[in-house]
Amino acid sequence: MSSENNVFGAMLQEFAGAARLLGLDEGLWKILTHPKRQVTVSCPVVMDNGKVEVFTGYRVQYNITLGPAKGGIRFHPDVTLDEVKALAAWMTWKCAVAGVPFGGGKGGIICDPTKMSQRELEALTRRYIAEIADLIGPDKDVPAPDVNTNAQTMAWVMDTYSMKIGTTCTAVVTGKPIEMGGSEGRREATGRGVMISAREAAAHLGFDIKGATVAVQGFGNVGSVSADLLAKIGAKIVAVTDWRGGVHNPKGLDIPALIEWTAKNKTVAGFPGADALDPSTIFGLDVDVLIPAALENQITEKNADSIKAKVIVEGANGPTTPAAHQSLHKRGVFVVPDILANAGGVTTSYFEWVQDRHGYFWQESEVNERLELKMVEAFNTVLQTALKYKTDMRTAAYIVAINKVATVTKLRGMYA
Ligand code: GLU
Repeated sequence: MSSENNVFGAMLQEFAGAARLLGLDEGLWKILTHPKRQVTVSCPVVMDNGKVEVFTGYRVQYNITLGPAKGGIRFHPDVTLDEVKALAAWMTWKCAVAGVPFGGGKGGIICDPTKMSQRELEALTRRYIAEIADLIGPDKDVPAPDVNTNAQTMAWVMDTYSMKIGTTCTAVVTGKPIEMGGSEGRREATGRGVMISAREAAAHLGFDIKGATVAVQGFGNVGSVSADLLAKIGAKIVAVTDWRGGVHNPKGLDIPALIEWTAKNKTVAGFPGADALDPSTIFGLDVDVLIPAALENQITEKNADSIKAKVIVEGANGPTTPAAHQSLHKRGVFVVPDILANAGGVTTSYFEWVQDRHGYFWQESEVNERLELKMVEAFNTVLQTALKYKTDMRTAAYIVAINKVATVTKLRGMYA
């Protein structure tokens, strides 16, 4: 793996740029660049063919200064401890930027869910949670969905934890089905936050999001909901790609129909009423807004210069490498960074956790209104910080986050 693709290294570079501008104390710098706790577990599962497979899982609690660790669980063949550590650090900064009282954590299991049955996925989830059960809990560490996990996965997490402690505990995990303590609006929340970020960025730059052209990389939960909600406020989604293929229509794609197609065909490729698009060409399209909503390391030194978009809204975590970030900044591309743009998910996770703890549930309109307020406030705080420090939005978001966590670290003091 080249150093450009070392994601924890990328996080450290982003951190350093902001910490320098902030004049961060050396001791705090050391504390905030080390994960609090990282755990590796082995999860044996009896597969459908009767054979035993052992899967490796990780849970990293990067920082719990502001509250319980918070962050998703990802299932993917390429999961590494370095990646989970970076994602847990990003959750720490994201929660601080979003203004929710959580620290940062992340989990991952090395597996290929596209090749596993529901029964195998359930067994793997339950064994992984059993292995980390002592470390999680509503006041300790609260998992959520991430790449290739969903509300059903979270239902198994909740049940396994609850069985272990002998009482039903809904607040141990967020992103659950609504019937069992999930929140209205949580499934759509990350995409809703991306839509709000794109809308605010367009307003700041002085163009109308209505009629603006948008390209979306990735059509999972984040990409599909972002596309749908942006189309609903009048943007024109002209291109969508996933890891299997892509589609392009300069007149705008019918997003609800594309969502239906993808549910059946497991890919956007082949969608009628659009031209085929090579996924590797999506970043070079002449669009107003580009939304990377897949995995890390997608916008690199190799393709950053081909980007024509005015605005990039990072739906994914870590889609832009530090080298690409520099080149985009030099060329004046306005980037709404991941730790701000995709913070809608964890913000509504916070709402879900609050509702679970109160045992009192809000209507969808209330959830969405509160999310709107939180996202706009976070966007404006980061924008004002960028203007004050004469820097880009990513560095500004880090400044906001580091400042918050560092201030509370100092107030709490160091426990010997
Ligand atoms: N996995 C999501 C993220 O990366 C949501 C995390 C959460 O809700 O805790 O932000």
